[in-house]
Amino acid sequence: MLTLIPLPAFEDNYIWVLHDGQHAVAVDPGDPAPLMAFLDAHQLVLSAVLITHHHRDHTGGNGALRQRYQCAIYAPDNPRIPAVTHTLRGGDSLTLTEPALHFEVLATPGHTLDHISYVGHGFLFCGDTVFGCGCGKLFEGDPAMMAASLDAILALPDATRVCCAHEYTLSNIDFAKTIDGDNPALLERERADRASRSQNRPTLPSTLALEKATNPFLRFHEPGMTAFAAGYLERPHPGPADVFGAIRAAKDAWDG
Ligand SMILES: [Zn+2]
Repeated sequence: MLTLIPLPAFEDNYIWVLHDGQHAVAVDPGDPAPLMAFLDAHQLVLSAVLITHHHRDHTGGNGALRQRYQCAIYAPDNPRIPAVTHTLRGGDSLTLTEPALHFEVLATPGHTLDHISYVGHGFLFCGDTVFGCGCGKLFEGDPAMMAASLDAILALPDATRVCCAHEYTLSNIDFAKTIDGDNPALLERERADRASRSQNRPTLPSTLALEKATNPFLRFHEPGMTAFAAGYLERPHPGPADVFGAIRAAKDAWDG
């Protein structure tokens, strides 16, 4: 049986751990300390690290973890990522024996050009591509690139559990309400997620169904978001990538 754990790290990161009671894998362990403490407390051996992209708050544990556990480190092909043992690109898959896991690799560029996501066992480990009710900033890619990445994610089953690398959900809901405030699913999500955070529980993983219903960055094919974008861009009939770009631009302006 597989157990999924979000380990808090830094201010608002999650290191996702999947384990079978003996062996574990960790996604984006930017800080090795909380992961090592968790593994020690549960007498788990780390078999592999999965990296989604090159940002330091996702890769900073690689060296120490590789040294301590001799674990495999899977990552996109980018020399800025330390201690990598296996490079991956979209369309690849990876199989581990302990724990027994199989993941498909999705290319999800946009936040960074090297960004990949891992899909398997009903989980999506999407790093900084999708957040609860939000998405990553476009530091390296453009809106069309990110929209294509989000379309690949939208094609996954609704029940997919969405494992994001940051706890940004409440702030993202505040923004979403400014452009989609009549959406009852969004208001219901706000109630549930505020209750979770008030008890210091993660809002994640969410489900893809919930993100499709509430996350404006996954709703760029919806008429309501298209109408918002037409107003924001001051031109009629924007295409999906332009609708996504308008939502992203509005969020960047809202963040200030
Ligand atoms: Zn990042």
